[in-house]
Amino acid sequence: MNDFLFWGFPDTSPPQFALDALKETINGDPFIHQYTRTSGHPALCRELASRYSNHLGRDIDWEKNVAVTVGASQALYMGLQTVVRPGDEVIVFEPYFDLYLNQIRLAGGVPVPVPLKFVPYPDSPSSYSGSWELDLPALQSAITPKTAAVVLNSPHNPTGKVFTGEEMTSIADCIRPHDKIKVLSDEVYKFIIHSPPKETSFETTVPGHVHFASLPGMYDRTLTISSAGKTFSATGWQVGWMVGPESLVGAVQQMLPYVQFCANSVCQEALAGALRKAEEPYMGHENYYAWLNSEYREKRDFLVKALQGAGFETPDYSRTAGGGFFIMAGITPAVESRVPQGRVGEVNESAPTGKVRLDWAMCEHMVREEGVGMIPSSPFFSEERVKDGRSDRFVRVAFCKRREVIEGAGRALLCDG
Ligand code: PMP
Repeated sequence: MNDFLFWGFPDTSPPQFALDALKETINGDPFIHQYTRTSGHPALCRELASRYSNHLGRDIDWEKNVAVTVGASQALYMGLQTVVRPGDEVIVFEPYFDLYLNQIRLAGGVPVPVPLKFVPYPDSPSSYSGSWELDLPALQSAITPKTAAVVLNSPHNPTGKVFTGEEMTSIADCIRPHDKIKVLSDEVYKFIIHSPPKETSFETTVPGHVHFASLPGMYDRTLTISSAGKTFSATGWQVGWMVGPESLVGAVQQMLPYVQFCANSVCQEALAGALRKAEEPYMGHENYYAWLNSEYREKRDFLVKALQGAGFETPDYSRTAGGGFFIMAGITPAVESRVPQGRVGEVNESAPTGKVRLDWAMCEHMVREEGVGMIPSSPFFSEERVKDGRSDRFVRVAFCKRREVIEGAGRALLCDG
């Protein structure tokens, strides 16, 4: 069974230069195996501060404006714990990375999903290929005096949407009058923008990616969050970080000693070395990041072809920007017909009917009968949106896998297509 297309992590090794940095670290200064500074290993904080000074167009102080955490997940958790008070509302764009909701609730907050609008291409055969667009009026009407934060995620999991500078500017304009609102900008996929937005007037330091905190007036209310996992195919290293004003990062730094002694010292030191190496020419490309995107473009194209051959609808990346390593593929009537009759129907949690939603039935069929693992789309949506019927028309498929794994899945999909 080809279950690897389920999970959102790469099945390849980190690049050799990152492994070398890790080996050198392990065999170098023996003190690196002990605790390091709670708010982040100085060597890594300095590297991050120098990079973000460039990205955000301001002086980032490695001691005051950076905190290193156990993955981006912990940065999000700590950010929410320090920004949200019980009863506060936190806006998330829907569909959303599911971790956000319970983290908001753990901070005593109330998640407020604001749907991204799915706009089908005019020539989409069954209207499940298109792009996910910001619904500004919906954002405006979701803001209340209780809104404490907006969680922004670009490139976006699960849709692959890349918010353009123009969209981010609209979000910034929308929240600017509300002093209370802070932004947690989750940018873990920023170095994987396989199809950058085309019509944009924004100059960027990372191709295709606008750092929200670089927009006028936004730095002082934004925690920029990221990690090494996706960029270096090293999700197990669990080195994440946040960058932002002292007023926000300082609160996290104060709390960190009661949460952990420090994040992994060895991986932090190795990452500092890997970040320097990543900027050098790599495998015939200008740098490691350019190579990474060319790899992901190739894998994406292969998976798109296989999905389309099997009857799914996918985004058209010549028209729609794309980032991260997921495709939200639309379930057309042609693929729907593969699902066993009678399996799809009304779901009633209190009185089970033996029926499941279409996206679940599709994934069940794909994994059992065709050996291809996919993830249903409805868990990325709120109950309200699931009820309106559109959220279960997609499956999420990951292409952060070795070529032979994607090819195997492609063959399995095409056989029955
Ligand atoms: N944010 C998003 C959007 C993600 O998809 C993930 C991982 N799937 C994370 C954060 C968590 O990243 P980390 O492994 O660094 O905690």
